[in-house]
Amino acid sequence: MERDTETVHEAYSFVCLHCGHGWEEEYEIRHTTDLAGHRRADYFARGARVRSPLTLTDCPSCNLGPIRILRPGRVNSTRPYLA
Ligand SMILES: [Zn+2]
Repeated sequence: MERDTETVHEAYSFVCLHCGHGWEEEYEIRHTTDLAGHRRADYFARGARVRSPLTLTDCPSCNLGPIRILRPGRVNSTRPYLA
């Protein structure tokens, strides 16, 4: 049984350091605290449960990576890092 649920929406921007592909995804993040006091976060995107964006390693464009995670609106500012 969950006694405490906090839902937040956060948008993350990603950029692939391999091919330069950049994209954004908005997540619904449900923070819950179980009866033992353990905090956990479940991530949902477009209505489906997904892995944490913090563990995202695959680029949807080239399937390689690595992926750099940015906050929204910062994709363009990373262009100088791209080859
Ligand atoms: Zn890529």
